[in-house]
Amino acid sequence: MKGPRVVHSLPALRRAIAEWRASGERIALVPTMGALHEGHISLVHAGARRATRIVVSIFVNPTQFAPNEDFAKYPRTLPRDRALLAATKADLIWAPGVETMYPDGFSTMVTPAGPAKAGLEDAFRPHFFAGVATIVGKLLLQTTPDIAMFGEKDYQQLKVVTRMARDLDIPTRIIGCPTLREADGLAMSSRNVYLSAEERRIAVTPYAAMSAAAEAIRSGAPIARALAAGRRRIEKAGFVLDYFEARHAETLAKLAKGETAPLRLLFAAKLGATRLIDNIPV
Ligand code: AMP
Repeated sequence: MKGPRVVHSLPALRRAIAEWRASGERIALVPTMGALHEGHISLVHAGARRATRIVVSIFVNPTQFAPNEDFAKYPRTLPRDRALLAATKADLIWAPGVETMYPDGFSTMVTPAGPAKAGLEDAFRPHFFAGVATIVGKLLLQTTPDIAMFGEKDYQQLKVVTRMARDLDIPTRIIGCPTLREADGLAMSSRNVYLSAEERRIAVTPYAAMSAAAEAIRSGAPIARALAAGRRRIEKAGFVLDYFEARHAETLAKLAKGETAPLRLLFAAKLGATRLIDNIPV
């Protein structure tokens, strides 16, 4: 079988990292939940431009799913993921089991605040960022990479992880990478496989509405009006909207009236059983 070496145990991971360190390699980590697509692959390429060794972690992290969410049905495709990574510069796949990441007696969680309390994803998935901060903290301490690659696709997550690494003095540089999209503009996502053919046809609507709102704001339209038009268009297409908002691009705070700052538009919307999220700069 072709593809990078797959490692399941922490001592084996640490041995590989120690050997690389001893020969002066620069290490990049690309954390994923697997079901890899071109978006993930672009993070591997971005890592390869800045480091000499690439670890891709694949772990579907139970602590970031609520009981009613899709943990059980989340796609798990390790052989296919490994074959995809064979065509990249990835050196190692870190694929721990749940018992390795959360052994009996596991009792410590990282509870982020700041960007994790912005009232976006956290308002609809209250468990989510503690799960993310805990697992990413563990992955960074296990791998001790020089850099770690994260997608802007999950923009609030990128901000939470950046803050967490800084707050805990984890000496890894967190690097944000642009969102890869399908030809029609839909952000690539492992969850897109859940969409029926009919749902896939309209799945790009929130992105189209968000792009139109960004364009309107750039041309001087009031932000509230541009957002309201976008919300109407998304809901009319049959989505249940969790949020569609304009936020300060760095802090994710709401902007006070008249305040000017670099803006980011962000939405989360459900189409049938599938939840889509995306964001763009203005
Ligand atoms: P996931 O496997 O969905 O947890 O994502 C793993 C990493 O890939 C995260 O840093 C995501 O933000 C990033 N990612 C997911 N989709 C995309 C995309 N379409 N373009 C770029 N990065 C992405």
